[in-house]
Amino acid sequence: MAVYWCTQCKSPVWASDRPVCFGCGSSEAKYLATDVRPVFARERRILEFYGHGSLDDAAVWRASKSTHYYINGQTVAAPSSEQLRRDLSAITEYLLAVGGYDVLDEQLIERYRKSLKNSQTRLAELEYEATSFIRETAGEFPEPQYQYLVSFSGGKDSTVVSDLVRRSLGRADILHIFGDTTLEDPNTYAYIHQFQADNPLIPFFPARAESDFFSLVDKMGPPSRTMRWCCTIFKIGPINEALQTFSHRVLTFYGIRAGESHHRGRYARITTRRRRDLYVSRAEDDLHGVTTRAKMGQQVTASPILDWSEFDVWLYILSHNLPFNKSYRLGFSRVGCWLCPMNSRWSELLTQLFFPENATLWRGKLLDFARRIGKPDPEEYVDSQAWTRRFGGAGLENRFTGLEVKPCGEMDHTIQLSVGRSVNKGLLEYLKPLGRINGDLGRSELGEIYLEGRCNGDWAGLIVQAIEGADIIRVTALAPKDFHRLMGYIRCQASKFEQCIRCTACAAVCPQGAITVCSDPPIYEIDQDRCTGCLECVTHFGSPGCLVAKSLSVYGEAATHDHLVRLNDMEESQS
Ligand code: SF4
Ligand code: SF4
Ligand SMILES: [Zn+2]
Repeated sequence: MAVYWCTQCKSPVWASDRPVCFGCGSSEAKYLATDVRPVFARERRILEFYGHGSLDDAAVWRASKSTHYYINGQTVAAPSSEQLRRDLSAITEYLLAVGGYDVLDEQLIERYRKSLKNSQTRLAELEYEATSFIRETAGEFPEPQYQYLVSFSGGKDSTVVSDLVRRSLGRADILHIFGDTTLEDPNTYAYIHQFQADNPLIPFFPARAESDFFSLVDKMGPPSRTMRWCCTIFKIGPINEALQTFSHRVLTFYGIRAGESHHRGRYARITTRRRRDLYVSRAEDDLHGVTTRAKMGQQVTASPILDWSEFDVWLYILSHNLPFNKSYRLGFSRVGCWLCPMNSRWSELLTQLFFPENATLWRGKLLDFARRIGKPDPEEYVDSQAWTRRFGGAGLENRFTGLEVKPCGEMDHTIQLSVGRSVNKGLLEYLKPLGRINGDLGRSELGEIYLEGRCNGDWAGLIVQAIEGADIIRVTALAPKDFHRLMGYIRCQASKFEQCIRCTACAAVCPQGAITVCSDPPIYEIDQDRCTGCLECVTHFGSPGCLVAKSLSVYGEAATHDHLVRLNDMEESQS
């Protein structure tokens, strides 16, 4: 399937390789692109700046996955990001030289709507399939056992899903949850407010992160494409926390689309059950887009528009005259955090153009960071987007080089860890995933903590010796099946104890809601009656155990650290 251009109707047609326009019956439509989106007044004006004439009356579409525009069916190359960067201030002036963009947008919306008349058969098919899916899913997970929920981001996809779910279920009162990362662009907040005002019967549940993003950047460095620590803390965590407060199980409808990214393409068609550090995946086809126990805890998620194209989403929005986030009128193809390292260069430049205060703030932060880590040319580091590719804490004064771990004399299955934070009572909390604390068995006068094994008998127990104020932790494993692996878990938890700044990520990944983390006042607590010992919080962030430690890790230095004894060597000496 792809988008073709009907020269008779002067509009796109979503079709297979033998396209027929349902508007005029023509079979002469020519191939345009794999997917397209409409182009509104300000983005048209940018094209006019580059000499494409007045586009107020033209039919303009943009390819979703390439840098082409289609003006009245003719292909036009988008300006390169280099051109845009160079011309940014001239474009700003050019945009300001005329007004009336919002009025023109309303006319364009009406014209797009009319031009999509030839796609109403497509729309009817999409709606029939999606509404059947929603009704069947709701039937499979019925109220009151399940609380129905729409995950609402303020983007176009969740706008469609919200409308579809309410129409399919014939209800105006479906609960909506908005995961407020605190970094949404101003248009998203405005749209959320407008949406609430327009739909007073929808109960709205904002899930907002308590942490301050910029102070975490100071501690961990900016998020990058490989280290998106922000998603866990600012998106998944708050929503997960909100879901834990519901007394029912939850059926959440998401606006995820497979075509949006490679990762998302795999996401909803696979059930990922994370159990300890083991993935068990299975084909999702029998569930038709329903994922049980997905990314966020014990919920069921359903993605009604999983197979929709971007064109389909716009076909729905425009045909039903749904209000939508104004950032799409500015030329953004996606909305979300305005400083996301995954954002395209195009989005970054649009942010500079339309939200200059945000862009200036973030650029200043990135320049500070570049200087802190000793980049010879901070401006180049920021402008070339090198920061989006950074990995680990190289150059940072608080980088993490791993813990010193060594075997403990001749004692079997015993290791000694040196931690850079004096032992205190808080250590207990980080040990709980590894076993249930039994206060009767540990000799507290020796700083001993006894943990009863609970992980399917993988170890019978752990004896931890940690004297308050010391910087050494000694751990003896009782009857471990796999000591090497267990040492890895212990090291993870010791790293957490050393590095924890209470970023809240651990709480975000616990499927039982057993972990409470708060930065102010500083709290990290695990309810051992809720903890099942699933080890998700232990293994979720890889070998350093802690998201912050991971972001600050410098593996090269860790490997050459004088005192570090490699776990493999230790395993040999212990076996
Ligand atoms: S241990 Fe690390 S990942 Fe967990 S809350 Fe603390 S800082 Fe965050
Ligand atoms: S605290 Fe939560 S994530 Fe960690 S082991 Fe216990 S149940 Fe699993
Ligand atoms: Zn036609």
